[in-house]
Amino acid sequence: MTDKDIDRRRKLTPEQYEVTRKKGTERPFSGEYNACKTPGVYRCVCCGEALFDSANKFDSGTGWPSYWAPVDAGAVKTESDRGLFSVRTEVLCAKCGSHLGHVFDDGPPPTGQRYCINSVALKLEPREEQATPEFSGRPRRDSGKPI
Ligand SMILES: [Zn+2]
Repeated sequence: MTDKDIDRRRKLTPEQYEVTRKKGTERPFSGEYNACKTPGVYRCVCCGEALFDSANKFDSGTGWPSYWAPVDAGAVKTESDRGLFSVRTEVLCAKCGSHLGHVFDDGPPPTGQRYCINSVALKLEPREEQATPEFSGRPRRDSGKPI
């Protein structure tokens, strides 16, 4: 374990540490963001990078927060995750390498992808909704500033 890991562990809850560093999975329907519909940006719990937006969140019925696209194509990276019986695609924070969840090919249009993400790997930054209607046709870029 590096100093960085130890430092990170101090700031994370045991659940957060288990998922982001040990590639664990929270129990379905247990996460605080599973049914969350609050508008905002979901950031990496470890480094604060914007990863997903509520505009791209959908109800997959799986028990985990699900998104059909990350906030930016470069916000996350994927890796082949070879299990005993299947190969899944792991989703990691592109900036700090935290494990977030997995991505599957059975999502809704327009991407057909389903990013199945653990709530504890995310931190929602709520957004004040203005009069401007939300356009959810494609992934939004996060300006990094409150609207
Ligand atoms: Zn991160």
